[in-house]
This record gives sequence, C-alpha cells and structure tokens, in this order.
Amino acid sequence: MRGREWVALETSEVWAVSDQHARTQLNIALFLSEHFPMVWELCGSGSLDRFRAVTIADLVRHRLDDPEDWAVVADRIGRFLRKHLRRYEEVNIEMVTCTITQLRNRLNYEIRRLVTADEEFVKQFADRRVVAFESEEGIGQLNVTHSIDQVVLARHRLHLGAKALRAQGDPRTIDQLMSDLALDLLIGRADGVPVPGFARPVINVTVPLETLAGVSDDPGLLSGGKVIPADLARAIATSEGATWLRLLTDAEGDPVSLSTKSYQPTSTIWRYVVATRPTCSHQACDRPSVECELDHDVPWPVGETSTVNLQPLCRRHHKAKHARVDRPDLDWEFAFAS
Ligand SMILES: [Zn+2]
Repeated sequence: MRGREWVALETSEVWAVSDQHARTQLNIALFLSEHFPMVWELCGSGSLDRFRAVTIADLVRHRLDDPEDWAVVADRIGRFLRKHLRRYEEVNIEMVTCTITQLRNRLNYEIRRLVTADEEFVKQFADRRVVAFESEEGIGQLNVTHSIDQVVLARHRLHLGAKALRAQGDPRTIDQLMSDLALDLLIGRADGVPVPGFARPVINVTVPLETLAGVSDDPGLLSGGKVIPADLARAIATSEGATWLRLLTDAEGDPVSLSTKSYQPTSTIWRYVVATRPTCSHQACDRPSVECELDHDVPWPVGETSTVNLQPLCRRHHKAKHARVDRPDLDWEFAFAS
C-alpha cells in the first residue's frame, strides 16, 4: 500500500468519512499545495474556505492538463484572490470575499485565455433546441437553449414587461408575470405585452481590441461577469445596432477617469462604469451592473460624478447603504446577513 493510500485510510477513520472521500480531499490538497502555492497559503492561513479551494482545483483539473498552463492560472488566480482579501478587525483575520460566481467567472476567463479553440461553443450552439418537461402534478417547463446573449436579452425583456405591469397595479408577482408573458408571446396572445422604452444597452460586452480585430482570441465578458468565447463576442460586436465604446486605458491597463460637473452621470460615464465593474459593488452580490443604480461613493457634491467615485449598486444594496448612512447609531455591521 502506498503512503498516500495509508494517509487516506487513516484520515477516513479519524474523520468518519468514506475512504473514497478522504482520497479525493487528499488529491485536491496535494494538487493545490504543489501547483497553486498562493491558493494553498490562503487556505493555510484560514483566509480561503474549502469550498472555494475545491472549486479552483476541480475547474482547473477538469479543463486543463498541462502543468505549464496550471502555473499561469495559479499565478493569475492567486493575484485575483489577494485583491479580494478583506480584513475583519474584530476577529483579526483576512478573508477572501469574492462570491463563488465571481470566482468561477474569473477561472473560466483565465482558462479560456489558454484554451483558445472555441469548438465547444460551436458544437453546443449547433445543438440549440427547445425541450418541454412535464411533471406529475400537471406543471410543465419549457427549456430554450441558445447563445447566452440572446437568452439574457429575452429574460430582460420579460423582466421589464413584468415590472411595467406591476407598476400598473397587476397583483401577480414578477415571477408569475414573467412566466405568463413568455407564454403569451409564444402562443401569440401578445397584444397586451408592454415593451418599455429602455435606453440602456442590455448586453454589455467588454472585449479586448485585439479580439475584435481577430488578432487574438482572448474571451469577452458580459455584464455580470459571464465569460463568452471570442467568436461570440465578435458576433455581438458586429451585430446590427451594436454600439461601441472605446475604453481609454493608462500604461498599466487601468481605465482613465472621466468626470462631469453635474449630479447625473453622462451616458458615456454610465457605460464606462458598467463596463469596468460588471456586478453590484456589494461584495456578496452578483447582480449585473447594467441592472444596477449608480451610487456616488462619496456623496455629491463633495464627491464628484466620475468613473472613480460612481459605483453600481443593486436596488437592495443601494437602499441598505443609505439606511446605514441615515442611522449611524445602529450597528449595521451584520445587517446583510439576514
Ligand atoms: Zn447588490
């Protein structure tokens, strides 16, 4: 019996878990300690939880098999995690605070930069379809598979339509209304479906110029941080009605700041902010920034209306932030936990 098997056997007895489970955990620990030193260090100091560490190991091992690629991802993801460290003074510990979705998006992005072939996207897109499921209770589900930008767009239109009907006093919930509207549209009873005017771009893709020019195949990012293959990013950028905004970056690659004297941001500033900050600025929120409100981090007019001082906050977290400011006498530190 090899040393590793002995360790798995003994640990499984101490922890009262199966031999197989102990072996899996041991393999993950060996993989991370050997190839992801920064991640392993964060685990050791208690700054990174087991679930996030396992997510990293699983995704990388599933998608990449070259140790040289592992080293590249290890370095980039290590720096990403360190950037998300936050110090909790009460317990004197630093914790990585990105959400699981943000971590997965970042891993997917880094992996896609290394695996340039987009065969998987082409194959799955060719396989697009509609499938209906039926349950015993008389409920059905309709599952539409298509490219992500089209699905996001369709969901967004349903959401806007549902909100418009709620505002007119419709007693149905947003979820119920979205379901009813979708079926109305498909079956052809769509006369009453509102199509609200909405000036903002719903699909916001951030993509390197080299990818647009076809020189490189670095992936693009949708609002919300979802990674999309270079081919799809190019298709969206060149589709009818697409508008482009060039982000000016300094020598370090960080966007340069834009500002205006007024309280309301200009549309260029709005687009800059949502392009560079894909989600709500609350650390545990994945709401795409195109669906968020822009908040002056330092209140106007002391704080300027600029790409540096404006941050996307979803309605819930925007309200929560102002509640804290208005009632400093209350202890809001754990208000988000409920
Ligand atoms: Zn939020």
